[in-house]
Amino acid sequence: MSDLRSLPSVDKLLSQATVLVESYGRSLTTEAIRSILDEARSAIRSGVSAPDQSELLTRAADRLRQWTVTRPRAVINATGVIIHTNLGRAPLSAAAVEAMTAVAAGYSDLEYNLERGERGSRLDAVEDLLKRVTGAEAALVVNNNAGATLLALSALASGKGVVISRGQLVEIGGGFRVPDVMEQSGAKLIEVGTTNRTHRRDYEMALVTKDVAAIVRAHSSNFRTIGFTTEVPLLELVELANWKNIPVIDDLGSGALLDTAQYGLAHEPMVQESVATGAHVICFSGDKLLGGPQAGIIVGKEAYIQPLKQHPLARALRMDKLDFAALSATLVHYLKGEATQKIPVWRMIRLPLSEIQEQATEFAQQLCAAGFEASVIDGQSTVGGGSLPGETLPTKLVALNVANPDDFLARLRRGDPPVVARIENDRVVIDLRTVMDRSTLRNALTRLGRKR
Ligand SMILES: *Cc1c(COP(=O)(O)O)cnc(C)c1O
Repeated sequence: MSDLRSLPSVDKLLSQATVLVESYGRSLTTEAIRSILDEARSAIRSGVSAPDQSELLTRAADRLRQWTVTRPRAVINATGVIIHTNLGRAPLSAAAVEAMTAVAAGYSDLEYNLERGERGSRLDAVEDLLKRVTGAEAALVVNNNAGATLLALSALASGKGVVISRGQLVEIGGGFRVPDVMEQSGAKLIEVGTTNRTHRRDYEMALVTKDVAAIVRAHSSNFRTIGFTTEVPLLELVELANWKNIPVIDDLGSGALLDTAQYGLAHEPMVQESVATGAHVICFSGDKLLGGPQAGIIVGKEAYIQPLKQHPLARALRMDKLDFAALSATLVHYLKGEATQKIPVWRMIRLPLSEIQEQATEFAQQLCAAGFEASVIDGQSTVGGGSLPGETLPTKLVALNVANPDDFLARLRRGDPPVVARIENDRVVIDLRTVMDRSTLRNALTRLGRKR
């Protein structure tokens, strides 16, 4: 009990915490001190001896730092997964960041036509870029691709039938299930074919017997069916849709604007291909292979894009000015033919093995000099972002022998900046392909090394 009484009062501690009060404000600091004292009291009751005043103040400072840290925090991605959904998907290009910063703190012409001095549309500039880059007649952008498909289905097929192959009723992850989104839009799902095989005649049968407002094609994104499988090519779906005078809604998921096959990967369906094939409404993400900010991009035929722009959901799902700025800057990279040099996702995809080898060798040497047991081994990076399942890029990993890999990984995650890495064969492995700042990573590792 005497230990309990030896704890200082809230007021006493507060009077010693002038620096904290200055940085965090009186009310929050008081709250932190209360919570630290509460914890100390229960610790004492379970037999721990009372902390002294300076220890209590240190704990309060830690608590205040924890409470006021802004999220999301920047982390170092040493996993080699380029589009890591849990780590915020695509890192932005320098120009995209600059464009965001330029409009963030002040005013902008977001919805103002400077030429005419009157109200404008936030979509105009980006629509122009998207038309040029994809070859489509019309375009609009909403908050994300889940929203884009929901909007397309709601505007074009609510209360009516929508045909989709059973092989495409997929779950992408993060709660996005194609059948659920379709249902949410008020469209009636008309499933055709089987899990592994769907034929043209399956679609034809549905189109002649049912009231159908659209054909949906959903890219399987994060899985592959192999073996005895058939899907109807997009061109034939477009022919069938044109015959019935209805649209094909093509949910591409990642929606590549460049050919992944030129970097030794499988060919990911490209937006330009869907446009050229005649798909009427094409939806894809801004922050997957496009390498831009979170966005749901819709391109296609004017006649079908127009009703989407006018639908109330378009307003509810509209994107904010910072993302418009970043998306414009990202699209400009494609327009100028500099996407593979300027957009981080593409820079990482095309990074030559010899360059990674060089970086990894130097990095391992530096870690050895800092007392680590580090070596360079072969490994695989992945593209991620629900694209190119099973496809990998050969890479060189820096492997660390540490006493307790799980514990080491946990301490890396708790560091500042946090580092996310992986374990392979009982070693901590670091894939420099996705590391944007090697010297910060080196410092984070050597700090931990010293504490071992
Ligand atoms: C990723 C994906 C989505 C969801 O896109 P978000 O931009 O994350 O909302 C929808 N459909 C497919 C096929 C996808 O791969």
